[in-house]
Amino acid sequence: MKHRINVLDEAIYKRIAAGEVVVNPASVVKELVENSMDAEATAITIEIAQGGKELIRVTDNGVGIIAEDVPLAVQKHATSKIRSLSDLEQIETLGFRGEALSSMAAVSRLTIKTRPHDSVEGTILSVSGEHRPEVSSAGLAEGTTVRVENLFYNIPARMKFLKNTARETVNVTSVVSRLIFANPHIAIKYINNGKVIYHSPGNGSLKDAVIAVYGKDISHRLIDLEYPGEIAIHGLISRPDFLYKGTNHICFFLNSRYIQSRNLQAAVLRGYGERLLRGHFPFSVLHVTLPPDRADVNVHPGKLQVMLYDEADVLSAAEHAVRAALEEDSKPPVLSLQD
Ligand code: ADP
Ligand code: MG
Repeated sequence: MKHRINVLDEAIYKRIAAGEVVVNPASVVKELVENSMDAEATAITIEIAQGGKELIRVTDNGVGIIAEDVPLAVQKHATSKIRSLSDLEQIETLGFRGEALSSMAAVSRLTIKTRPHDSVEGTILSVSGEHRPEVSSAGLAEGTTVRVENLFYNIPARMKFLKNTARETVNVTSVVSRLIFANPHIAIKYINNGKVIYHSPGNGSLKDAVIAVYGKDISHRLIDLEYPGEIAIHGLISRPDFLYKGTNHICFFLNSRYIQSRNLQAAVLRGYGERLLRGHFPFSVLHVTLPPDRADVNVHPGKLQVMLYDEADVLSAAEHAVRAALEEDSKPPVLSLQD
C-alpha cells in the first residue's frame, strides 16, 4: 500500500481543509464578526473565555438566516454572497468562500441561533465534528448568535499547537481592535471572561473608535488625515512626538477590510521622513478606498494580503497624505514615547 495514491475520506479531508481558515481563536473571531458585518449588523458582541479556546460567542442584530438556509450555512462552499464567477470581480462583502462556518463545524462544537426580523420563530442548529447537525426552532431575538466551543477538541495535534490562554487572548484582542477601527459605524462590545474590555460607540467616528481601544489620552496626540480622490485615504496618525517602539500601531484598511502591507507601512514612514526619532514608530490607522475592481482580495485564504493593481499610485498617495497632514498640523510637539 505504501506509495499508492489513495483518495482521502471526506471526514479526514474536511478536517485538514478546515485548518486553513480556522487556525486559532483569533481567526474564528475574525470570521464570525465579518459574517455579522456582512449581515449588516449595527451592534456586535464578542465574548471569549480562556482565550477563546473554551468559548467564543458572537452575537449580532443583523439580517439573520431563514430557517430553510440554516443547514446550508454549515456546508462547505455554501454562501449567500457570490453566485457566479463574475461576482468574484466585484466583491463588496468580507466573506465569499463559504468555508468559515463549515470549517468551525468540523473542528469544534458549533451552535447557531438565528432569526430574521420577519420570521416569527428562530432556528437553532448544533453540530460537531462528523455528527449530523441537529436543528430545532425556538423563540429567539432578532439577529444571529454563533457559539464555538472547545476548538480543536477532535484534533489533539491542533489543540496542542494553540498557545497559552494569555497569548491567545492577546491575539483575539488585537483582531477585535482592528475590527473596531475597520467599522466605526458598528457598536462592538468585547468581553473577556465576563469583563468588558472594549465597547465602541458605533457612531461613525474613527476617533471615537480609536479612543474605545486606546483610551481618551491618545485623542490629543492624533491628527486627522483626509486625502480625497479616486484613490481616497482617510484616517488618523499620531503627531511625530507620540511614538511607539514597534510598528504594531500602524494599520491599514482597504475598503474597510484590514490588510497587511509592508509597502504601505514604508510609505507612511516616508511621509514622516526626518520627523521620526530613530527606532520609533507612529500610531496610524488609515482607510484606503478604491473601486472594488482595482484590488484582488482573493490571493490568500485569510485575505490579509491583497493585490493592488495601482500599487505605486496608492503608495505615493499615502506618503503624500501623511506628509501633508503633518505639515498642516500646527500644535507644538511634546515628546511622549510609548512602550
Ligand atoms: P461566507 O461568509 O464566505 O459566505 P461562511 O461559512 O462564513 O461563508 O457563512 C456561510 C453563510 O452563512 C453566509 O454566506 C451567510 O449567508 C450565512 N451567515 C453566516 N453568519 C451569519 C450571520 N451572522 N448573520 C446572517 N447570516 C450569516
Ligand atoms: Mg464568512
